[in-house]
This record gives sequence, C-alpha cells and structure tokens, in this order.
Amino acid sequence: MSQLELNTSSDHEELITRFVDVILPVPLPKLFTYRVPFELIEQVEVGSRVIVQFGKKKILTAIIARIHEDAPTAYEAKYILELLDDEPIVNHQQLKLFAWMADYYMCNLGEVINAALPAGFKLSSQSRIQIHPDFEIEDVELAALEELIIEHLSQEDSMTYDEVATLTGRKSIASLIKSLLGKQAIILFEEVKEKYVPKRIRKIRLRYKYTTPDQLEELMKLLEKKPKQLEVVLRYLQKAPVFEDPEVNHIGVEKATLVALGISTSSLKTLVQKDVFEEYQEVISRFPDVVPEKDHNVNFNQHQAQALDEIIKCFETKNIALLHGVTGSGKTELYIDLIKKAIENGTQVLYLLPEIALSTQIVTRLRKIFGDKMGIYHSRFSDNERVETWKGIISGRFSFVVGVRSAVFLPFDNLGLVIVDEEHDSSYKQFEPSPRYQARDVALMLGQFQGAKVLLGSATPSVESYHHAQSGNWGLIRLTGRFGKATLPQINLVENKSYGAPGSGAFSKELLEVLANTISKNEQAIIFQNRRGYSPFMTCDDCNTVPMCENCNVSLTYHYYSNELRCHYCGYTQGVPTNCSGCGSRKIKTVGHGTEKIEEDLRIVLPQAIVERMDYDTTRRKNSYEEIIASFSSQKTNVLVGTQMVSKGLDFDNVSLVGVFDADRMMSYPDFRANERAFQMMTQVSGRAGRKDKPGQVIIQTANPKAELLHWVINHDYSGFLKRELFERKKYGYPPFARIIKITVKHANRDVSNRAATQLTKLLQVPFTKSRVLGPEEPIVNRIRNLHLTGILLKFEREATNLKGAKVRINQLIDHMRDKKDFKGCYYVVDVDPA
Ligand code: ADP
Ligand code: ZN
Ligand code: ZN
Repeated sequence: MSQLELNTSSDHEELITRFVDVILPVPLPKLFTYRVPFELIEQVEVGSRVIVQFGKKKILTAIIARIHEDAPTAYEAKYILELLDDEPIVNHQQLKLFAWMADYYMCNLGEVINAALPAGFKLSSQSRIQIHPDFEIEDVELAALEELIIEHLSQEDSMTYDEVATLTGRKSIASLIKSLLGKQAIILFEEVKEKYVPKRIRKIRLRYKYTTPDQLEELMKLLEKKPKQLEVVLRYLQKAPVFEDPEVNHIGVEKATLVALGISTSSLKTLVQKDVFEEYQEVISRFPDVVPEKDHNVNFNQHQAQALDEIIKCFETKNIALLHGVTGSGKTELYIDLIKKAIENGTQVLYLLPEIALSTQIVTRLRKIFGDKMGIYHSRFSDNERVETWKGIISGRFSFVVGVRSAVFLPFDNLGLVIVDEEHDSSYKQFEPSPRYQARDVALMLGQFQGAKVLLGSATPSVESYHHAQSGNWGLIRLTGRFGKATLPQINLVENKSYGAPGSGAFSKELLEVLANTISKNEQAIIFQNRRGYSPFMTCDDCNTVPMCENCNVSLTYHYYSNELRCHYCGYTQGVPTNCSGCGSRKIKTVGHGTEKIEEDLRIVLPQAIVERMDYDTTRRKNSYEEIIASFSSQKTNVLVGTQMVSKGLDFDNVSLVGVFDADRMMSYPDFRANERAFQMMTQVSGRAGRKDKPGQVIIQTANPKAELLHWVINHDYSGFLKRELFERKKYGYPPFARIIKITVKHANRDVSNRAATQLTKLLQVPFTKSRVLGPEEPIVNRIRNLHLTGILLKFEREATNLKGAKVRINQLIDHMRDKKDFKGCYYVVDVDPA
C-alpha cells in the first residue's frame, strides 16, 4: 500500500460514504440502494422520505428503510436527489408490520408502502416546456402558433401542457410540441412537487407599531379626519379587542370574517397601503377544534357491567377478545368506556370500522365525547386531510383515531387498544389492488407488534373469529339482550313465488300492507335489496337475447335515472337499445328489481310515502350519505330503500319495519361464504328495526321459506347457524380449518389463460399434491375488462403446514411461468385468504 493511499483514507475517515436502501412505491421485490450526498449525511433517518431517480426517466418518492456503508456491487448507486422530511414519517414498528404484510399477502413491500402512504405524501410531477438554451429565433422558421408559444415562454420561463392549450386555444397540442422539439426550440422537463398543501387562510392584523394601547390611541387620533378608515379600524377592534399585551393584539382576524361584517376588501386594501393593517397568511388545520359535549356518563346495566368486567379480566391474560353482542346491546357504549380508559393510561387507540355508511353516525357519536382529540381516517377524505391525520398522530395531537381499513397503516408507536367494530364485515378485505389484505387480521398483527389489546366486536361474528374464541385462544364475551326496553324484532317469512318473474311487482301483498300501516302510524321502514340499478338485465321477448358488456362476460344493468345500460364490473355504458341486437324485435323488457325499480314501485303503490334511496349511485357526492341519513334520522323520509349500505350499523329510533328482498340470491351464491354472508346480512339489516321502545318487525320475502338458513335467521339463532356452518367447513376443508390461497390467471385470450392455469396447476400439484390444489376453473364471470380469468384454489391445513415455505414455493413457480414464452402477457393475481 502506498503512502498516498494511506493518507487519503485517514483524511477521509469522517467522510465515509453513506448509502440508504429505500422502498420505492413500485411492484418490485427488492430495496434499492442510493448514495447520500455529504450534506445530508447527518439528516437522513430510517422512515424519512427521499426523492430519487429511478430508471432513466422516473422521479419517485421513496422511504428510507436502512442506512449503511456498503456500496452495491451490481450497479453504481445514484445520489438521492432530496430529503423531504425533517423527521421520519414512518416508524420502525410500521416498517415491521409492512414487511409482515408483504410476506403474508405475497406482494412486494413497494405495493404495501403505496397502499399505506396517503397520496399526499407522494410526488406529483407534470411535464413543462422551456425555451431551448441554444435557441435563436432568427435561425428557425416558426408557424404562427409556435411563435406565440415561444413569445410567451420568453416572458414566462416555463409552461405546462394545459397552459399551452389555453394559450393556443387548441385541445390537442401534441403535434405543436413535437414540432417545436424537432426544431430544437424548446426542451421538456418534469416539475416535481409535493402533493400535500397545507390549508392557509388570509388574515388581517394591525401593524406591530400600533399594538400597544397607547399606540392605538395615537392611531385613532391620526384617523380622526378619515372617518371611513376610522370606522373600519373600529369594526376590526370589535373582533380583536385590545389587551395590554401587544403580542396578543398582534393576533389577527380572518379576512373573510371582516368581509362578512360588511367591511369592503377595497377599504382593507387602503389601510394596508397606509401601513395601518397588514395582510398575511396563516397555516391552519383542516380539522376544526371541537369541544366535547358535557360528560358522557352511562350507567351500565347488569349485563353490560359484567361484560365490561369480563373484557378487562380477559385482557389480563389474553391479547385478543371477541365481543359477541346482539344489535343494540350496547357494544359501542362498552367500546367508549374502554377507549377512555386506554387514553387515560396514556396509550393510543385505534377504532376500526367498515366503510362509509356506518361511520357517519358513529363518528358523530364519538366526536361528541372525544372532541378534537379524535382523529379520523376515511376513504372519503381528501389527500390533504389524510396527511394531516397522519402527521397529527406523529405530533401527538391525535391519540385516538377512528378509521376504515387503511387506518391500520397509520404511524402509531404506542398503541394500547385496537377495536375492530363489525369485525365480520367484508369491507375489511381489500380486493384490488395488491396488497389484498384483510384489515381485521392485520389489526391482530398490529396489536401483537405494539403490545396492544385487540377487541373484535359483532352481532354476527365471522365463523373464523368465533371459532378462535370458542376454542379458547381468544376471550369470548357475550351480550344476549338489547339495552333497555328494546327487544329483538319479530322476523316473518313471506313466500313470494312470483318474485323476480317478469312483469310481477316486487312486493308481496303482506309486505305492502305492513308497510302502509307503518307509514300511517308515522313510523319508518327500511327496504333492503342488494342490487343497484333498475333491473339487473334486459331481455328480448322474442329471442331472449340479453344485452351484454363489450368487455366483460356479464349482462348490463339497466339504470333508469341515467337512462343507460351499465356494466357493474368495468363501468362500460351504452344507450338503451330500441331494437334487439339478435333479431331486431322491439319487444325488449326489463327483468328483475334493482333498488331503482323498488323505489319506483313504491312511489306508485304507496304515493303517500316519502321514499329515499341509498346505494352506490346516490352516494357518490361527498356529503350525500350524511344528507340521506340526516333526512331519514329527522324523519323527513318514511322509507329508505338501499343496498347493503342500509344494513350496516345504522341506529334510528323510529324504524319499526325492515323488508328484505334479496334472500334467495344471497343464499344461492356459489361461494363457501355465501351462507355466512346471507346470515350476517339479514341479521344485520333486521337489527335496524325496533332499536328503542317500539317493537320492530322484519319481513323476508323468499321463494324458499323452508331453507334451513332462514330458520336460524328468524330465530336469532347464531349458534345454530354456527354449528352447522363449522360442520360443513370442516367436512369440505374451508376456513377456519384450512387456509386458502387463490390464484387467478388472466389473459386476453381465453385459451392462453386456460392453458397457463392448467400448467401452473400441474406445477403446484408436485410439491403440494393434488388434494391441495383445486382447479383450474373459470369463474362465473369469466371475462372482465377483456381479460379471461381462470382460477386455481390452494387449500392448506390450518395446523401443521409450513405456510411461509409454501408461499415462497408458489412465488417461485409463478415466476417460472412468467418466464415462459408460450404464456407471455399472462397476469397472475394471488389472493391470500380470499373473501
Ligand atoms: P350496539 O353497538 O351493540 O348496536 P349501542 O351501543 O349502539 O349498541 O346501543 C344501542 C342504543 O342504546 C344506543 O342508542 C345507546 O346509546 C343506548 N345505550 C346502550 N347502553 C346504554 C346505557 N347503559 N345507558 C344509556 N343508553 C345506552
Ligand atoms: Zn331478439
Ligand atoms: Zn364490463
């Protein structure tokens, strides 16, 4: 070793090169190494965001997962371009959970990060154009519009495509840009910026020189000859009374408030110019301050007190408990009590609930109790609101968060309690895109990583959860009666053979009579039909041709209000045909009853009733749920017709009738969970009736009143249902006795998709044996968005399997398939614990 080299290394002892491994939000299986510029070495931390260049063109935000000094051997590490955070936005415990999710759900860490981070934490980039540095206007001939653009650029520095479009009045500017690029008149570049924008308000305040009482008096004197200006200042002072402390007097008033008082913006402007006022901006929270209503104290009845006791006892030895309490038994009141206790203990609390409808009422209820200490994380939130909830947890503003499935990703570091309300609900499972996670199960893992207790609650627990609780792994606590005078509703079956037949009304005579009676007593009703639209399909009376989607193998649903046919799988729409595409006949009719049709029928047969509909189509606007629920709650509406949205957790005092339409279809669905779903849905929607002192009644219309499942529903017999269901699941090898992994092969060509699935099935059968690998089989809807689907089902015994190893093997075999030329263009979708 030469002297020189020795010197160099000792000189650079403190200049060690740092590298970071980052998680990129892309579906690639590994971390990527970047180099840290010298000036950032002190600042980089695991969990902070950095901007990096990925590939030739992409600029991405990434999360630092590891900091080290090992240069990668396979490639030259690029420098990170920028560090975005002063302190980490993701903590170590989260990274651990995310890694577990990637493993368990067989996806990439990047996909988990992508799902975890609110979009507001990612970058938005847009293309801009700028004049080419070597461009000389004399050298090139430009068309008139090109000249216009260049002229503009010489003043504006750079422009987005949209700005170019506005400037030129052209919709399509691609050819213009291309021509300018060809003439080397402009260059293209990507502008990258953070998406999150803090909310700012404009405020007005007195200049600092007028903030002591004396100075202010001075100002008044000065303005004596300007009565108009004096008037404005006096009005300002109504909103900002004077105190001794000039600092306090320097706190301004929102400009909008002053304008609302009748002060004109021009007079404010004058006083700003006169140096009396100054205008400035203030960053404020998107979540307003809320003061909790007076103390929320309930006296638990004996059953509730005992249940609460049991939960607390159970948590002394177990980490997970299941609360099985009938609808209206007071589960939510128990949760509230436990949340208060956990917060008093100085720990964080996460309260998970299923999507949307349910949350509106519960959030309002919790808000009154916990005020603005409670954070909310909701799918209807804007990106900015999500970022603020996320940051609010880190800063300690929120120690308690109510949220939907994605709230399991939030940056908790000190969780004491996780509540999973309505734990059976299928909206806890994410179908698309990857990670296809089940938030209830992730919550159990989250609890384990953080040492938090997890309480699952439901009136109709999932078969899996009940099985775990019954077998003693978890605690099991039961509440069998409704609170107070409320009783469980009387459920009746009405045989309705003609139901669904063409031309027949959807309503049975019995249901209509009771409905009319209910309304005449000024009581309310809920009608449940789990199909939106007017009719599930149309058909030709002469040749039976059914209009189908162009992209999917599924009939188009007729929507009356938008007067079109719509595909519920891909969103394709077309006008309503006047002639049959098969035979040209004009006799095209609608078949079946969606929510729109039921709403229409009701308007005809019960004109005195005020009917509202709650389904996907009526609730797309931001506050539409709240509005529909509020008008039903205040009894402006008599009847609420809706899909499963009306079945979940709503708590209305005056509902004495629930009508259920969809029983038969729910029970006949070809899925091992069909019975469970049907039982839960019917029990839950029935639970909306008779929640206070008025007794409730439920009418289920069915063509098959002898069905065993209906028997359990009408008798509120969960344990009968469960016993039978567990028996069947065991017999046929389904959860909770087996673990299921579903693989769907997709390809534009049906034959390729089938052949690839056959091949993959054979490959999988080698390590796992034929009995564990079922299929391949096409699902009922075997083409969606022009891709043909073929499914493979893997079943593993719950105990005694090396599931981790099996997953690794499955991934290897799929990778092997991906490399095969014959099956180019195939997608392989893996769903662990499919719902
Ligand atoms: P669940 O969550 O099991 O459906 P809730 O907690 O919503 O039941 O209770 C049903 C209704 O009864 C709610 O309006 C609730 O405020 C009320 N309630 C339950 N327990 C009590 C209690 N101990 N004191 C007063 N009101 C109660
Ligand atoms: Zn026809
Ligand atoms: Zn479609």
